[in-house]
Amino acid sequence: MKIIFLGAPGAGKGTQAKILEKKYNALQVSTGDILRKSIEEKTPLGLKAKEFMDQGKLVTDDLIIGLIKDKFTSKDFPENWIMDGFPRTVAQAEAFDDLLASINLELDCVIEVDVNRDVLVKRLTGRRVCKKCQAPYHVNFNPPKKEGVCDYCGDNNIYQRSDDTEEVVVNRLKVYDDQTAPLIEYYSSKKLLHKIDGDLPLEEVSKKIELLFQ
Ligand code: AMP
Repeated sequence: MKIIFLGAPGAGKGTQAKILEKKYNALQVSTGDILRKSIEEKTPLGLKAKEFMDQGKLVTDDLIIGLIKDKFTSKDFPENWIMDGFPRTVAQAEAFDDLLASINLELDCVIEVDVNRDVLVKRLTGRRVCKKCQAPYHVNFNPPKKEGVCDYCGDNNIYQRSDDTEEVVVNRLKVYDDQTAPLIEYYSSKKLLHKIDGDLPLEEVSKKIELLFQ
């Protein structure tokens, strides 16, 4: 499995990637998660990324492309992977194409999770995340089975991301329209794109994605 999840913030990319990760023994590569961890650990990458992320802006292409190159060329990088939140600009997509070609890999497909704008805002502002394993939840639509405890790792630190506030969310959605949405045409013209209705309930979205792999 070598796939990309495409879609606006809050579309459910991370949730669906986590489900596939478990089912297919693939690695979810979330650039957002990697950056948040770098910020917490105060690494040089984290220090550079923080200012952009706090404002809902994209981190620069060179930083992100460097990060992805390091991952893909590391010895223990697995055969099956799911990109979640990368690429996010046409420059990143082009650099990713070059990288994959240079290591003789080919993308299986790109899954676009399409969600209505009002739904996105509700999902993002109500989203909560497990600090330890990054499993995503929602205060109303998808709370953990036991309040405050992560269903996946059992940790009890479920929090709201600082960029999931209403003010930053509006900016992130604009950035998506301006810089990331052009990737829909980019992958569609390469005949790699599959569009999924992400307004459907979580389980139904999963079923539709599952059908792509049968
Ligand atoms: P996410 O967790 O995917 O919503 O990403 C959170 C934030 O991390 C974004 O708003 C960006 O500031 C930054 N980020 C994550 N992935 C990328 C990327 N591929 N390119 C640029 N910035 C990114």
